[in-house]
Amino acid sequence: MNKTYAQVITDIDLKENSHSYTYLVPDEMTDIVCPGMTVLVPFGRRNVIGYVIEITSSISSNLSSGRDIFGETSYQIKPLLKVFRDEVWINEELLSLAGWMADYYMCSLTSVLKCIFPCGIRRKKNLKITVSNGSEHFAHTIKSKELLYIFQIILEHKNSLSLSDLSCHTKIPQGDLKVYLNSLKNSGHVKLSEDYFPPETKAKIIHLVSLNTEDIDCLIEKLEKSKKTIKQAFILKFIKENNNKFTLTEVAEKACVNPSTIRILREKGYVTLKEVEVKRNPLSGEVNSGGNNFTLTEEQNKALQSIYVSLKEKKYAPCLLHGITGSGKTEVYLQSISYCLSLGRQAIMLVPEISLTPQTVERFYNRFGDKVALLHSKLSGGERYDEWRRLRDGEASVAIGTRSALFAPLPEPGLIIMDEEHENSYKQDSIPRYHTRDVAMERARLTGSVLILGSATPSIETFYMAEENKIRLFSLPFRVEQRKLPSVEIVNMSEELKEGNKTIFSYSLQRAIWECLDKNEKIMLFLNRRGYSSFILCRDCGHVIKCKFCAVSLNYHSDRRSLTCHYCNHEEVLPPCCPSCKSRRIKYFGVGTQKVEGEVNKFFPDAKTIRMDSDTTVKKGSHKILLERFLKEDRTILIGTQMIAKGLDFPEVTLVGIITADTAINLPDFRAGERTFQLLTQVSGRAGRGDLPGRVILQTYAPDHAGVIAASKHDYQSFYEREILERKELGYPPFESIIRVLFTGKDERTVRMTSEEMALSLRKLLTPSEGLVLGPCEAPLAKIKDLHRWHFILKGEECDILRNILRKTLSTLSLNQSVRISVDVNPAGMM
Ligand code: ADP
Ligand code: ZN
Ligand code: ZN
Repeated sequence: MNKTYAQVITDIDLKENSHSYTYLVPDEMTDIVCPGMTVLVPFGRRNVIGYVIEITSSISSNLSSGRDIFGETSYQIKPLLKVFRDEVWINEELLSLAGWMADYYMCSLTSVLKCIFPCGIRRKKNLKITVSNGSEHFAHTIKSKELLYIFQIILEHKNSLSLSDLSCHTKIPQGDLKVYLNSLKNSGHVKLSEDYFPPETKAKIIHLVSLNTEDIDCLIEKLEKSKKTIKQAFILKFIKENNNKFTLTEVAEKACVNPSTIRILREKGYVTLKEVEVKRNPLSGEVNSGGNNFTLTEEQNKALQSIYVSLKEKKYAPCLLHGITGSGKTEVYLQSISYCLSLGRQAIMLVPEISLTPQTVERFYNRFGDKVALLHSKLSGGERYDEWRRLRDGEASVAIGTRSALFAPLPEPGLIIMDEEHENSYKQDSIPRYHTRDVAMERARLTGSVLILGSATPSIETFYMAEENKIRLFSLPFRVEQRKLPSVEIVNMSEELKEGNKTIFSYSLQRAIWECLDKNEKIMLFLNRRGYSSFILCRDCGHVIKCKFCAVSLNYHSDRRSLTCHYCNHEEVLPPCCPSCKSRRIKYFGVGTQKVEGEVNKFFPDAKTIRMDSDTTVKKGSHKILLERFLKEDRTILIGTQMIAKGLDFPEVTLVGIITADTAINLPDFRAGERTFQLLTQVSGRAGRGDLPGRVILQTYAPDHAGVIAASKHDYQSFYEREILERKELGYPPFESIIRVLFTGKDERTVRMTSEEMALSLRKLLTPSEGLVLGPCEAPLAKIKDLHRWHFILKGEECDILRNILRKTLSTLSLNQSVRISVDVNPAGMM
């Protein structure tokens, strides 16, 4: 008979970045085991948990990155020890997606799986505690109070208790518990063995209290007689009157007793505590009313009808929903999801950053209630586990979240939506360096789903695909209810300076703020990135204080009077004089949100300010609180960074002031113009969303910049046309592919030489028609965390050719081990 093999990655390998191993599938398991299952395998001298990624008939894997380090030599292949039958940790569809990603982004399959399969969901080895046969009958031989208490809890759980479960229930540390357990083992009450438990159920457990004795009235009567036990009688009565429906904490609260009194009742055997698992809901308590009932606009309707047809056909159908801010895109998402759910399939809704879009998330929650599961990095491990399981088990059918939500374990996905598809945060900047858009397309293809890419300012690449008819285009060119786009006034700040205005507010902006305050309309002031330009500069010698470990200027925080590095978090105190020339005229230069706030307070003393940046929004939920204040309080000005640029829908805002439009323009990146345009358009879109017309004042030192002008006219088309020509001329995406190879290491010379060596060997392999190597050169951020950085760029029409040549070089060159090489296919930035 032919042998069957399983390609397995072990739990240990998931932590690092390694390959798969081959195991023999014993005959009795061949019918059971399939890719995606959890198994137990021998590994070195231990047995460990592993995950089957492929079943093969030979000992080598077909998957590109799966590889047996032992090769096909005489090595003895060990058998699988155990299959956890009902535990599929990943389905075959996601497994093929992972394979595709590993190949496309040139990284290991395990690194991709690690990213798809979040930690906290894996089986772990633990001590298993079982009650010895019949030992409950000699519980009375246990003399110590603690031991009896522990034994009782074990009894309540029959056979499925692990050491860490027990520790959770008793609040006794595992180390101490082990001592108690050994003593119970020696007295023959329990048996201890090792087992592999499903992820530590960090799921929230509640304890329902119920009465144990039949003859409760008699017992109550007895207890009431003694002063010492009268309280116990009272509790029992309370539980009885409420038909056993309260939890431990509820009984304690409502009957005004200490939970420990209830535990005493349990120890006496009067009541039992039954464990019930409640799934956490990160949005609990935030459900509002149902959905809206608009008459759809003609454009919304057209897009939706077409989306419905595709959903019904169950065919891969990618499309771009290009709609200006406030044109009703979100409504299209909501109704598409409704329709998808009605067909019995599930949907994924991706947003760039969850904390920045509380309003958007709330709208989905209002519409779909419990069917929504949230997946994002700010969830606690337990919350993520719950949400993940709710999706896998079909309890929730709308996965909302940041890029990782794309990997939601849905049984039958039918719709993937990517809101603000142009956003930078959709690209992961650690391994695997995937772009959500590319992977979303692949997942939609694999599952026959509809993919909606939505944006007011689509990325050049996406719009090009629409123009080339590779994806469909739906446009929503108007705001709903004929609301007008705000008028944008460009103010040249150099002119202001010449006229003697040295403040950060142009005359025009000052006037506009006064007017708004008078009419009690809302104002937002926007500044690019937290303290982005607030570096310390010596007015005499021009010295800029930089981070010791990263070649970037340190940022000044006036509240702490300290300098911090935004790359490595290095912090130092502000020196009293210039470290270079000892001049005392050392000042901070440029503006941060704090500075703007200070200036507002000076200029408009009776206005209140709310500052929203990464400093004021550290705490969970602080966004919401700040925004609510902004909404409720009168004469309030919201000051913020990127955070206030996105997704906010406040009809009362009539004025948006952009303090400086320039910060993104000068970045050394071919996407700098695109980013500027997107950001400015987005911020402007915050004004005039209600019945009152909106107004934007855009302050800049570069009033002639194409991105600035196009944004001021809300003119995506002309911006796109200019940009696409430039991309074509210079051979940038979407016309040519780019792979960036970055070298980092402690010794600058070695880093440089390694990059040169590799670039040279690539140049030998590449023909001019296939592509070329640009560089190597020092990266714009030449040093981060004390590591020197060099890079080069591979550019060519066929990304596959570039990938193959790079793969070949990486596997044949033996490069200096002290240099780290990272490959970024279609990089989002070049810093
Ligand atoms: P976008 O996502 O494009 O910025 P939204 O979907 O948020 O636009 O719509 C902007 C506002 O208009 C929201 O308050 C929304 O509830 C409302 N809206 C959406 N569609 C309609 C419609 N057809 N008629 C009236 N109001 C609508
Ligand atoms: Zn630093
Ligand atoms: Zn100086």
